[in-house]
Amino acid sequence: MRKNIVAGNWKMNTTVAEGVELAKAVVAKSSEVPASTGLIIAPPFTHLVPVAEAIKGSVIGLSAQNCADKEKGAYTGEVSADMLVSAGCAYTILGHSERRQYYGETDAKLVEKVKLAIAHGLSPIFCVGENLEEREAGRHFDVVTEQIKNVLYTLSAEEMAKVIIAYEPVWAIGTGKTATAGQAQEIHACIRKVVAEKFGELAEDITILYGGSCKPSNAKELFACPDIDGGLIGGAALKADDFIAIALSF
Ligand code: PEP
Repeated sequence: MRKNIVAGNWKMNTTVAEGVELAKAVVAKSSEVPASTGLIIAPPFTHLVPVAEAIKGSVIGLSAQNCADKEKGAYTGEVSADMLVSAGCAYTILGHSERRQYYGETDAKLVEKVKLAIAHGLSPIFCVGENLEEREAGRHFDVVTEQIKNVLYTLSAEEMAKVIIAYEPVWAIGTGKTATAGQAQEIHACIRKVVAEKFGELAEDITILYGGSCKPSNAKELFACPDIDGGLIGGAALKADDFIAIALSF
């Protein structure tokens, strides 16, 4: 059975002190959330060690927002999968549209990142999604299918079992526009079908999150859809109350 998950992507927000405070506020409220819902927070790299300390003993999992496509060595400015594990991470977001769009992250690079992350014991939260132009051209199913095939089809079934997928329509991220529950469900169902074409029954166990202006007021309707197993939350994850309210929306 797949797990419901609500994951908070803090992006490039908060100082270390503010981040630790936010993590502690999430911990304080996390007892309200049933055990059937997993909670994950993804602070910036600089915050990982103190946030790991702040969430110690709680149910909250720690995620990075990215990791290097190389094992180790002379790659100035990069942070490896091994380093993330040593900092307390169990997850890393990979292929977020902001990384694809602003930092030229390609599917080929993402293959390396996803494989390395898994090899070091991390579960990737692998993001896919179409931009506005692609949606308006009616190409959203094709774009997302291609992203899944280019990266996740290179994995073994054992590797795939570690992956969480996040569908995030780029036009809905940070814009206040949310995909309707119907729009989100039809593409989540498509993602699960594409995963099933390669990995068979395993597709039923893969958690697929929705991301894009998800908030307490719309989470219930989205999470009620059969193929939406939770959310990857940006802006609303910066307020502990909102983040927990979303996690209580199943
Ligand atoms: C995100 O970037 O992962 C995201 C979903 O952001 P927001 O919730 O702010 O749209």
